[in-house]
Amino acid sequence: MKVLKFGGTSVGSVENMCNVKNIINDGKKKIVVLSAMSGTTNILVSIANNILNDKPNEAIEKINKLHETYFSTIDNLLYNESLNAEVKKYVTEIFNFLVECTYQEYSLHLENQIVAQGELLSTYMFHNYLAQEGIKSTLLPALSFMRIDKNKEPDLFYIKQDFESVFQQTPKANIYITQGFICLDEEGNISNLQRGGSDYTATIIGAVIKAEEVEIWTDIDGMHNNDPRYVENTKPISNLSFDEAAELAYFGAKILHPQTVTPVRADNIPVRLKNTMNPQAFGTLINDNHIENGVKAIAAKDNITAIKIKSGRMLLAHGFLRKVFEIFEVYETAIDMITTSEVAISLTIDDDKNLDKILRELEKFSVVEVDKKQTIVCLVGHSIVNHHETYKLFQILQDVKIRMISYGGSNNNISLLINADDKITTLGKLNHYLFELVTL
Ligand code: ASP
Ligand code: MG
Repeated sequence: MKVLKFGGTSVGSVENMCNVKNIINDGKKKIVVLSAMSGTTNILVSIANNILNDKPNEAIEKINKLHETYFSTIDNLLYNESLNAEVKKYVTEIFNFLVECTYQEYSLHLENQIVAQGELLSTYMFHNYLAQEGIKSTLLPALSFMRIDKNKEPDLFYIKQDFESVFQQTPKANIYITQGFICLDEEGNISNLQRGGSDYTATIIGAVIKAEEVEIWTDIDGMHNNDPRYVENTKPISNLSFDEAAELAYFGAKILHPQTVTPVRADNIPVRLKNTMNPQAFGTLINDNHIENGVKAIAAKDNITAIKIKSGRMLLAHGFLRKVFEIFEVYETAIDMITTSEVAISLTIDDDKNLDKILRELEKFSVVEVDKKQTIVCLVGHSIVNHHETYKLFQILQDVKIRMISYGGSNNNISLLINADDKITTLGKLNHYLFELVTL
């Protein structure tokens, strides 16, 4: 059985929902994971922010507007009157619940309940749309099997057990629809797999049922070799290894949730990225084949903070690195890049929530400099560190100032740290040097 996940744009309009219907209606048994309609989760997050900032009226205004948008989508989608009425009733209950939330005091628990509504709306609408089109489907409520543990990792033991029991109890159908993104936490409260988490839902389910393949359907022909938002003439990459895909997803390729391939790589379950608006395109196939072909893709991750730590008496005295790393561990802050010299170390973080506290600790034994608004540009390809054409990337040194370089940490990744303002130039120039210049 396959797992197919459709993102926000794929369920974001009547036309695209019709495309999804055509893609899944091939008579084969499958699990369909849906995101919220595009834009919905952002609005739900901002409603939660309004509650946090004591602006319930702004929240209510947004809720009413979103309610109207959903009603007009339903009118376009469901001409069957009884289904139309049934879906409107369900949707109204959700919007009434959201209004009730605005009377409550903010808590993370409340926010999680609010942001969970998007996937509940999209799956219910889509399930009824299929019914109208004469296609039988069954809803599998994600909140009855998807669960994370206290480290916010999927609790695979529990998920497997509950998924199987929910699956057996549901009426039989070819198409099983479930919500991406949402789950319960270890205490049974509503939580989620972080923004973009529907991809992760799909591969978690894929691992649990040992799926033959997981397909992630979006609005682009697979993973591109550079960021199409900033660079012209980018091309889809037909094959990526799990390692390459993981590096790209982590370092900024927005198309995939960073953890997407984690659940399926051990069982070598392929992940295929496909375009709902152009199903004929090959897309990108991610599996454990390693094809050595130089730099395959470039991605950028923004909002990076660089920290340079100099110790007066260092000359890399032993124990210095341990002291530094311990501080980041205490404040649960992951380090992405690191370079060292004889007298200083530079490292980067993307989560600066605890930056002030970290700096206070570091300043007790070192001189610290902080640069915000940095960007990591990440180059990925199997064994690029050894590839004979990789040198070409260093032509970039004549065009922009590089703050840090990480080379050789892994054979498959080279990272550059630059000023955020230089991102577009850097991506464009690297595209030119690595993908457009023909080798003599
Ligand atoms: N709806 C959620 C989000 O926008 C999850 C997803 O789309 O993958 O982040
Ligand atoms: Mg996504």
